[in-house]
Amino acid sequence: RFCEVQQAPPIEVFAVSKAFTDSTSEKKVNLSVGAYRTDEGKPWVLPVVRKVEQELAADNTLNHEYLPILGLETFATAAAKMLLGSTHPAITGGRVTAVQTLSGTGGLRVAAEFLGRVLKYNTAYHSAPTWGNHNLIFKQAGFTNIAPYRYWDGEKRGLNFDGMIEDLSNAPENSVIILHACAHNPTGVDPTQEQWKKIADVMEKKKLFPLFDSAYQGFASGDLDNDAWAVRYFAERGFEMMGTQSFSKNFGLYNERIGNLMVVVKDTACITPMRSQLTLLVRGSYSNPPCHGARIVSRVLNDPALFEEWKGCIRTMSGRIIEMRKGLRERLEKLGTPGTWDHITAQIGMFSFTGLTAAQAKHIADKYHIFLLSSGRINMCGITTGNIDHVAEAINDAVCN
Ligand code: PMP
Repeated sequence: RFCEVQQAPPIEVFAVSKAFTDSTSEKKVNLSVGAYRTDEGKPWVLPVVRKVEQELAADNTLNHEYLPILGLETFATAAAKMLLGSTHPAITGGRVTAVQTLSGTGGLRVAAEFLGRVLKYNTAYHSAPTWGNHNLIFKQAGFTNIAPYRYWDGEKRGLNFDGMIEDLSNAPENSVIILHACAHNPTGVDPTQEQWKKIADVMEKKKLFPLFDSAYQGFASGDLDNDAWAVRYFAERGFEMMGTQSFSKNFGLYNERIGNLMVVVKDTACITPMRSQLTLLVRGSYSNPPCHGARIVSRVLNDPALFEEWKGCIRTMSGRIIEMRKGLRERLEKLGTPGTWDHITAQIGMFSFTGLTAAQAKHIADKYHIFLLSSGRINMCGITTGNIDHVAEAINDAVCN
């Protein structure tokens, strides 16, 4: 029977990272996987995280008992407040509930299972393009109609706002609309506040369900409140909605799988039955979540001094990305690389959608040992002051040839 199993397609981002690892070139650069790197090209354990970990390790009152099925409550509550703001009317009105999940991916999966199994939704829309996992998560959660809405305009290298509005207007009632809260992956292009208002108008009119995927809060602008504007706005408009949070990037806790699923309801009476259904879904899936990341994030979010320290770490990361964007654009313009490069600095967050084609990405990998996705998406954090000239020259060569 096992020999009947067919080979599944590779997941590009991991295949490209493997090509980077396997490369023996001294000049190799990994611009594929979405993880922060220091200017030395190294992973960064945030100093505030290291400090809290040391405190946890020294704390003999802690143990390894199971967490509740829906996770560490001090974490989930603080995470929801971080997303909505502690004075948001949905928070002060008690209309928010939150559960710890296996990072952003796990939050999306629990959300999709809940929407599909409990509320019988079967249609989901994601932006074109989007983070590759959205489609897979919803498919595996049983959604039978998964469709894209227009988002990226390749010609103008920006948002196809009219296309997006038209596609949302034509979506059937009760479709789940996956929205990137900020720092859209892979394009780095977010709607403006005025555009978000129009998106909310259409979604309200057409009775579409907002699911905000917040994987980069703090990474886009360096400011937690700015980056949560759209989520807060939708919640103020009175939508029933969900938001998933990842602490992979903004806490650098990638492998701890720490995330949150936040639900905003209209009627507080819905919360108890909803939590009971979420409990069943999680119980039958992974039973309960891991604790280490939850303890770290909970301590930081609930302690004003640690919280300030963490915000400083976020500014360090987002600031370095912004510097690399400026540096890359300047170099390409100086080299006279054909085309316009202002989109490199206009885009925000970790990624830039360069406009490079699959053939150009291959050329850059083969000749310069710089590895990026075939869509032309690059992780800005892979660029350092040490390799930025090499990266700019490679892009210039690929575009010129
Ligand atoms: N959503 C988006 C848009 C992402 O880019 C990511 C991270 N690549 C995630 C969700 C979730 O990541 P994680 O499961 O590591 O939290």
